Amino acid sequence: MSDQPVALVTGGSRGIGRGICVELARSGFAVCINYHGNEPAARETLRLCAEVANPDGRGSDICQGDVGQAADRERLVQTALGRWQRLDVLVNNAGITSVGRLDILEATEESWDQVLAVNLKGAFFLTQRVAQAMMRLAQSPPPSYQPAIVNISSVSAYALSTNRGDYCISKAGLSLATELWALRLAEHGIRVYEVRPGIIETDMTAAAKEKYDQLLAEGLTPIRRWGTPQDVGKAVAALVLGAIPFSTGEVINVDGGYHLRPFPR
Ligand code: NAP
Repeated sequence: MSDQPVALVTGGSRGIGRGICVELARSGFAVCINYHGNEPAARETLRLCAEVANPDGRGSDICQGDVGQAADRERLVQTALGRWQRLDVLVNNAGITSVGRLDILEATEESWDQVLAVNLKGAFFLTQRVAQAMMRLAQSPPPSYQPAIVNISSVSAYALSTNRGDYCISKAGLSLATELWALRLAEHGIRVYEVRPGIIETDMTAAAKEKYDQLLAEGLTPIRRWGTPQDVGKAVAALVLGAIPFSTGEVINVDGGYHLRPFPR
């Protein structure tokens, strides 16, 4: 078994997930880069990870799987354990937005099922499966084993969009799931955190780029710029490396201060 810690990052092929993979690789992790359909993008993330990894810290790989499907989740975990024999970190990042962004008066069950399956059910049951594996590994722990799980939620966990109701509900649910797992896994030495990004420049926000450019220029966030995948990746790396010891179930906002509620002057 390698001394190198291993991280499984869902939706690691693009956007925020790519930023997380690269920062974890830079921090010495071998990264299991999960993707759904875009293999070329996953390979590009792999290349970027190899670029920043120190010479002893290579060894990342890509792994296809739909986190909304039980069989795929099982395959992901088996692949990671088979390849590296250890699993130190899970980052539940894979996510999709509301299909068609319809007003909740018109929203479809089809969109609800898809969004909840990926964003909430996938993260919840992958956490369950990985937690079982981590508990087993902890019985004869690999070198420098510090297991942690990070859920990538969103400001949509509390900021309401009536044309993305299913998305908001999935993120609010993920927020609660973080607390449940933090409570359940603390006695097993597994820390669980929520990282809550604001407006981050990725494919997901590309369609609304002009709208956000204007809102950001007008001061929507106290820090007046787009967030980057690297901003989120750095927060995840800091957490899993133990930058905030004696803590679990915490929420880290990576949102340019959006969550601050200034009273109008
Ligand atoms: P993105 O650019 O659209 O990338 C989505 C990623 O998720 C891709 O890697 C995609 O894989 C993967 N994915 C989609 N469905 C999947 C499935 N069923 N199984 C496994 N992987 C799947 O999105 P993003 O903006 O980086 O968002 C990443 C996370 O951050 C999401 O949970 C999102 O809700 C959250 N977030 C984003 C923002 C933002 O402003 N962008 C803000 C707050 C929170 P393929 O490449 O193979 O399609």
